Amino acid sequence: MKGGKGMTKTRDFTASSFSMFLNEEKLMAAQCPDCKALYLPPRPLCTSCYNGTMEWVQLKGKGRLTAYSVIAVGPTFMFEEGYDRNNHYCAGIVQLEEGPRISARILGVDVKHPEAIKIGTPVEVQFLIRGEGENRKTFLAFKKRD
Ligand SMILES: [Zn+2]
Repeated sequence: MKGGKGMTKTRDFTASSFSMFLNEEKLMAAQCPDCKALYLPPRPLCTSCYNGTMEWVQLKGKGRLTAYSVIAVGPTFMFEEGYDRNNHYCAGIVQLEEGPRISARILGVDVKHPEAIKIGTPVEVQFLIRGEGENRKTFLAFKKRD
């Protein structure tokens, strides 16, 4: 077994690996060991220095809301969760403390009063687990921090 310095065993730097990590309740990014650039979603190649050997790093999952929209009619799976015209949800872009931005569900904000949702609101990662067994899927969300 290889290992050392808290390394997670190497997976391909793809969206499906990212989802596998989400299922383990880890928010992982690809990092270039040479120039330290972070990629989220992960990429197999550093576009800053063209290094092709990336490493996985676990992010703290803390950041700030930089954009959002409150959505009334969303994708089918949201409808199945009971979100509809009368039960809106918030989708946003979070800038993580480590730098990358990622889109996700935003929880803990008042979707009935979207004008009161503030850009810059501190948020932390939440893993929304849906389904069981082979159908289990984890969705990325961020919840407002107090
Ligand atoms: Zn690089």
